[in-house]
Order: sequence, then structure tokens, then C-alpha cells
Amino acid sequence: MANQEPLSIPGEPRLSRRIREAAGRDALGHAAILSGQGDLAAAARFLAAAQLCRDGDKPCGLCPDCRKVFRGVHPDAVTVTDPDHKNVSVDVLREVVSDASVLPNEGRRKVYIFPDCALLDGKAQNVLLKVVEDGPPHAAFIFCAANSAVLLPTIRSRTVEWKLSPPAETAAAPDERSRELCGILCAGKAPELAAFFAELENSKISREELKKLLSDTRDLLVSGLAAACTGQGDALAVRLAGVGKYKLSAAAESLGGFIRHCNYNIGVGQVLGALAVELVR
Ligand SMILES: [Zn+2]
Repeated sequence: MANQEPLSIPGEPRLSRRIREAAGRDALGHAAILSGQGDLAAAARFLAAAQLCRDGDKPCGLCPDCRKVFRGVHPDAVTVTDPDHKNVSVDVLREVVSDASVLPNEGRRKVYIFPDCALLDGKAQNVLLKVVEDGPPHAAFIFCAANSAVLLPTIRSRTVEWKLSPPAETAAAPDERSRELCGILCAGKAPELAAFFAELENSKISREELKKLLSDTRDLLVSGLAAACTGQGDALAVRLAGVGKYKLSAAAESLGGFIRHCNYNIGVGQVLGALAVELVR
């Protein structure tokens, strides 16, 4: 265990290091925004673990607090959702405010994670404002947003923003790869597809990169489908249209399922294996 790579957010070694350094100085602050296109849920778990970890190198990933956070069962790392409503209701947020005044169950702090701040409207954010501004010292807040502009300036001014790397930094290659995958899928040649997946696995593609590759590929298939219906589209779309609507929509649909798989904490190898079984038929 001693030589293990330090734990990090997938695809975000630099951000992971910066969070770790701030945690080491006990300078994480009580409220943070995680913004950008990457794996915000993984980043939020990492930051929550850094807040709750009791080891010197936070998050260590090994202490009971870290392990519970990463398993999603820490009683003091609360993910705030409202399954009954499209947006998070004011009532749910009032409960957060009142719960925040109660001491943590077992952790050093009590961390509230808001997984998608696009679901917090202005009224909802105003309910939180006071506790974010002047809450009890044990309460910490993690706001996740693809774009931090969805948060009110009054909230933003009281938080530290940690930005995930822009997709451009890591995504130059997948564009070519998505075209290639699209071509192979449409040609329907099983050995080529199997070889393509094997190469992806060897290239140690991250879950986030795989998700982007599959999403881009699905977008291409959908543009082919549109071209098949309208007779219009760019050169690739028109070429794809020749494959036929049925095949294009079946392939796009099965990719959709795998894109959803990529949102869960499943190994890339497992997703690729299942893809090969489903598509190489
Ligand atoms: Zn720990």
C-alpha cells in the first residue's frame, strides 16, 4: 500500500493536487464550487473526503471517513437531491439549513453536496445564502455546476471555485476516434470493432473520456439518422445515412445505455467488455 499512487479525481491530476495542498494547510474553506464539464460527482466525493479525512494526506482514501465518503455512506457527507421535484424545492433546502445547525454525527465536519446547481433556482439559493455566509463552523458546502454562472453572485462571492480542466485539454483525440468508431459500427465488422475496443482498453482511456467518445459517436449516428430522413447534412452524415435508419437508430440507442453506465462507478474495462458483447453481434 505504501507505494500506491495518491488518490485523485479521474482525469484531474492537477486539480486533485491543488485540493490536496489546500487540505494539508487546512485551507479548503467552508464553501466551494466545482465547475466544468468533467466528472463533477467524482470531484465532489474527492473534496468531501478531503474535508472529512483525518489523515495527514487528505484525502488518504484509507481512513474510515474517506472509505465511507467514497462508498457514499458517510452520514456527514450529505448529497442534497429532491427526487419528487424537477428543481430542488425550498422545503428540502430549509431542512438542510436546519440540519446544518446540528453537530456532525461522527465526522470532523458536515458536508452538503449539491450535485447539480442548475436545479437550484434563485429562491432556493436565497434560502441557503445565510448558512453559506455565516453558518456554524462545522458546516461545509460543495456546489457542483457545469457553469458556475447558475449560482447567484452573492453565493459565488462566498465560495472558492475549483474548475475542472476544459474538455479541450483532453479531448483532441476522441474526435477522430468517434468518427472511426462510427465508421466501424456502420460497417458492422465484428473483428474490427473488437480490435478497436481492445486498443481503447490498452490506451488506458478514462471513464470520462470513454463517455465523451460514446457521446460524440452517438451524435454522429444521430446526424446520420437526420440525414437519412431529410437528405441533408454534412458529408459524413450523408455517408452514414446510406447505412439505413434502422441500423443507425439501433446503434445510437445502445450507445445511449452505455453512456449512462459511464455515469456510475464502473470500471472502463467492464463497460468496454459489455459494449463488445452488445455491439459485436
Ligand atoms: Zn482519509
